[in-house]
Amino acid sequence: MIQFKTIGEIQNALLNKSVTCLSLVNDYLNTISQKNETLNAFIEIYSSEAIELAIKADEDIANGSIKKLTGCVIGIKDLLCYKNHNSSGGSKILSNFQSTFTATAVQRLINEGAIIIGRQNCDEFGMGSANENSAFGVVRNAANTDKVSGGSSGGSAVAVQAGMCHASIGTDTGGSVRQPAGFCGVIGMKPTYSRVSRWGLKAYASSFDTIGPITNSVEDAALITQIMAGHDENDATSSTVEVRNYQEYDVNKKYKIAYFTEALESEGLNNEVKEATLARLEYFKNNGHQVQGVSFPIMKHLLPTYYILTTAEASSNLARYDGVKYGHRTENSNDLISLYKKTRAEGFGKEVKRRIMLGTFVLSASYYDAYYTKAQKVRKKIMEETEKLLSEYDFLVSPTAPTTAFDIGKKIDNPVEAFLADLYTVHANVVGNPAISIPNGNDKEGMPIGIQIMGRNFDEKNIFQFAKLIS
Ligand code: GLN
Repeated sequence: MIQFKTIGEIQNALLNKSVTCLSLVNDYLNTISQKNETLNAFIEIYSSEAIELAIKADEDIANGSIKKLTGCVIGIKDLLCYKNHNSSGGSKILSNFQSTFTATAVQRLINEGAIIIGRQNCDEFGMGSANENSAFGVVRNAANTDKVSGGSSGGSAVAVQAGMCHASIGTDTGGSVRQPAGFCGVIGMKPTYSRVSRWGLKAYASSFDTIGPITNSVEDAALITQIMAGHDENDATSSTVEVRNYQEYDVNKKYKIAYFTEALESEGLNNEVKEATLARLEYFKNNGHQVQGVSFPIMKHLLPTYYILTTAEASSNLARYDGVKYGHRTENSNDLISLYKKTRAEGFGKEVKRRIMLGTFVLSASYYDAYYTKAQKVRKKIMEETEKLLSEYDFLVSPTAPTTAFDIGKKIDNPVEAFLADLYTVHANVVGNPAISIPNGNDKEGMPIGIQIMGRNFDEKNIFQFAKLIS
């Protein structure tokens, strides 16, 4: 099958009739049927719907009508609602749940002609960094099927990596778009918090959750982000800041870049990842950008702050799954309390239970001030320090993750080690700023390495521009 790098290339091919939407959809369906059994990226495929939509799109093209995403075949993470389709959030507790409405971000893509080919596997409610916490099984990295995909949008990253769809829509609460993109050698963008409406995204940690694309090109990440972005009256937190045009590139622009010296000295950082990052920083310098190492001692507080606040929010958000309103309900209860307890004991996986317990603990009366209130204060401080730095520098650059994709099963019994995989990505969520992961070569075993560029709030445009210069 023909692999297109950008939506622009697809549309040229559609207009000069070298492909049709139907042939594209059939190619993806073929690839899915060859690869999905091993990779487990998709939980469900919408074959007949996708074919129908493709036929309709081909008719539209013949009548001279082409939209911004005509010919763009996408997959959506299982955390996003799509009307009249099942949406489980990677969880047994929602295994038979059907959405009654479509997430705003997804609807905006559909309105521009995108064809949704299926829903993609993920860590349960977005909790994980390896896609090993899904009720639908582990997702395998297409570069080496013994390795994890990264997570929690593992299915979404592997689907793009393996050519099972053109682009994916993932969600990022602490790195879940960027880290699997980095592990799979594709591009993952987390927009500014509030830039894309969260309406129709199952909440994990509401003050951190974002929706972002996983693609093969910066151009596509820019186009898809731009289409999803903008205020939505269904999400009171969605921003009214005007959406800029992310697709104009000034290739001559030079930037000021900082990296944290602590980040490159951290103990868990793999040597090959470090070397690749340093080489990239050198490349930036050689191309006329300014690069400066700065000290950011507060960095060591990022992971604790993230895990205290996100578990607190999760313990509250996940209270809604009680067997009364949605999804799974136990058959073995004889009163309301045992209905709650048994439903949740049966429906949630191990990691989700761990997070709910941690979150309930940090919110409990005796520990609230010591953990929750303190973490809120630290979050504020980190935001101020980050803002100060970003008033001097355009971007903060780091590896996307401290290692490349690791062996399946390696970290499953060690949650603290698993949390460390998020060392570099959680910063953007703690402060809300936008960040992208782009490929930065491979390690000796051929596993992809990612590099992360974080920018100012609502400055997606310059992030895309810089990413385009170096990708
Ligand atoms: N790995 C992180 C976590 O488990 C990030 C997850 C995410 O971004 N959804 O919380």
